[in-house]
Amino acid sequence: MPKVDLHCQLEGTAHRATRAKLALAHGGEAGVDVDELSGRASATAFVGAFDQFSSLLQTPADFELLVYEATRDAVAAGITYREMLFSPGYHLQRGVAFADLWDGLSAGIDAGEADFGVTTRLILDIDATRSVPLVLALLQLIRNTDRQTLAGIGGEASGFVEEDGALRRVVDDANAIGLNTCFHAGYDAAPAQIASLVDAGVDRIGHGARLLESREVAVRVIERDIPVVSCPSSDVAMGVVGELSAHPFREQLRRGVHVTLSSDCPALSGLDLADEYALVGETLGKIDASVDDVIVAGIDAAWLDDSQKRSMREELASFRRRESMDATAKAGS
Ligand SMILES: [Zn+2]
Repeated sequence: MPKVDLHCQLEGTAHRATRAKLALAHGGEAGVDVDELSGRASATAFVGAFDQFSSLLQTPADFELLVYEATRDAVAAGITYREMLFSPGYHLQRGVAFADLWDGLSAGIDAGEADFGVTTRLILDIDATRSVPLVLALLQLIRNTDRQTLAGIGGEASGFVEEDGALRRVVDDANAIGLNTCFHAGYDAAPAQIASLVDAGVDRIGHGARLLESREVAVRVIERDIPVVSCPSSDVAMGVVGELSAHPFREQLRRGVHVTLSSDCPALSGLDLADEYALVGETLGKIDASVDDVIVAGIDAAWLDDSQKRSMREELASFRRRESMDATAKAGS
């Protein structure tokens, strides 16, 4: 069924074969296998693997290949629209020019849309391990990029929330140049960090697995209808939640949080968005919710205008109509 993916880390989509190909071209290691990480990776191991993948990306053609392949994978998972997080901080510090990275990504996105019909937009990870002045300088660098391609900024916010007013300044600066914001309350971010994101005026919250630990913070998120972009398998792989059945996604949905389902790092977790829906979908009946409720929550949280969202909802409805007509025809034959 057609669906959207609002939190997918570009560098976390690289297949082992692609990594091996890039390692051969540039020297270096293809990185650990998915099996070595999946289900029991510590955050440090996860970030280390991610760093290793990132180091293999050097030329515009590398970025083009990666996003093109990710788009092909998106089709297989039934994704029609995706907002992908990419992390220039990792690449710029290794000497990759922003223009090369941007040109490669733009070319891959265009080719992917032409060949597979999937729309991809980017979210720039501002990398909160940097200082605020550096981040503001990065915002200057992207000031004139195409807003159809670059939809917003995001990433881990823990480095900023500790500094008074810093995240608010970054959010305001991004908004001023037409960019949306989705920051992580990832790893084991406590509700206090989620509250800081709300205070800073972010448009969406990434992960947010611990939101319900504070009734007060949960109420604020619900009342402001701030979408929470949940990535259950990634949370399990990172060790934030012990196992998928214990993940709070379903409970967040039941309590009225605008929670959506995304894939995060499919090549690392070994699960794509279709797998996520299959796993979560099995248990939704227990809370009187359906898979379509979750898909529509994702569409509503996407950084698209109302008419684009309407046509995506219609696409889902017509998919369901075709599906039920097929089932009727099958039963009658
Ligand atoms: Zn994430």
